[in-house]
Parts: sequence; C-alpha cells; structure tokens
Amino acid sequence: MSGPRILLVEDELHIARGVIFNLEQEGYQVCHFEQGEAALAAFEQSPFDLVILDRMLPGISGLEVCRGIRQRDSRVPILMLTAMGKERDRVRGLSEGADDYLTKPFSLAEFLLRVQGMLRRSGWYRPQLRANDRYNFGENQVDLEQQRAWTPRGELSLTDLEVRMLRSFFQREGEVLNRAELLEAVWGVSPETETRTLDNFIVRLRKYFEPDPANPAHFLTVRGRGYRFVRNGFSSE
Ligand code: CA
Repeated sequence: MSGPRILLVEDELHIARGVIFNLEQEGYQVCHFEQGEAALAAFEQSPFDLVILDRMLPGISGLEVCRGIRQRDSRVPILMLTAMGKERDRVRGLSEGADDYLTKPFSLAEFLLRVQGMLRRSGWYRPQLRANDRYNFGENQVDLEQQRAWTPRGELSLTDLEVRMLRSFFQREGEVLNRAELLEAVWGVSPETETRTLDNFIVRLRKYFEPDPANPAHFLTVRGRGYRFVRNGFSSE
C-alpha cells in the first residue's frame, strides 16, 4: 500500500525542504507547491489525505486556499502553518476550515506528531478510502474501500469497525499498537472501557485471515502491550 498523500503549500523553501524530507522518511508522498493557485488546481485533479498550508503565501492567501479546499472537500484534514501566534489569527484559520494549526518556528518532531495524529483521526471520521487501497497479506486480499476481503476460506463483507481496525493495522504495519490506541482509532472510546471487545475483535480477524487462528502469523499479541500486524508473518509469539 502506498503511503498517505500530502499536499504541502509553503513558499519558504528552507521550511518546505525540511518538511518534505521528514514526511518522506515516514513513508508519506508529498506534493509541494509554493503558491495557492497551483495547489488548488492539483487538489482538483486528485485526492489527498492531508493538506499542510502556510497562511502567508504570495498570490492568494492560505486562508483563501483553505476556503477553496473546503468547498471541494469537507473532510480532508488541513493543518495550517502560521508565523503569527496571535489568538485572532489562529481562530481565523480554524473558522475557515483548518483543523489544526502550528506556529512557526516549530520542531519537526512536533510537526510529525501532529501530522500522524491528524491522519489517524481522519481515518476515524472518513469511512471511504481511495480506490487503490487494496492490501495483500498471506493469502488474503483486502479492499478497504469496498469493504470486502478475499481469503482462502472465501469472500467476506467487512463491517465499518473491521475496516477501521484493519486500516489501523495496515497503516502501521510492524509496529506495536497499544490497546488504548486501537480502542480510540476503532471505537473512538477512552482506554478504560470495553477492552474485551478489542480482544474479541482480534479473535474475529484471526478467524478470517489466519491460516491457523490459534497460532497467529499476522495479528500478533504483544504481551502486556497490545497487538502488532505483520504482513509476511511467522508465528513467533
Ligand atoms: Ca509564507
């Protein structure tokens, strides 16, 4: 699966370069524009998973770009970068449809955390994915957009919750997802509630996709921490 596509609109090249380098290191695909007009045109052409928008641009302003994107897409998360820390300017960006803002100068570590958080949350409120979101592992193929899976046991329809959970695992293949993260990403609930629901859900995924559900190769338990998805798994746990 290719990484999330990010539209970056930033006219200060030294900032853009650092941002692009770090996003690409994380596996994101970045389309960069220095001006809002070109960015809006690109947005018309193809979908993005996240928009990062400088507020002060030559030509039309970041606020206008934000408004334009919102007219076309009410869901894509927008992160506004602003040199001005004044409360009024932040509020203005948020009222034009930005979801979050970061004041320059910012640390790249904080920036990446913000981006990751926004992409995770957007998975929560956006049930539809792009058409090319097909994912293969083991002898299984999963189409998150159509909510269908093809396994050695047959073809399955996936529920919204199953899709959310699979997406969380696929996006962070190989990483340990702790219980709290999974509960929040899939159910949007606080970690204290219903942890058994999560375990039952994992049992279900194993029944669908594991060659031997009792001895999982893909949806692994990480004792005391959570779960980890591996695409080419061996049952080592
Ligand atoms: Ca600028």
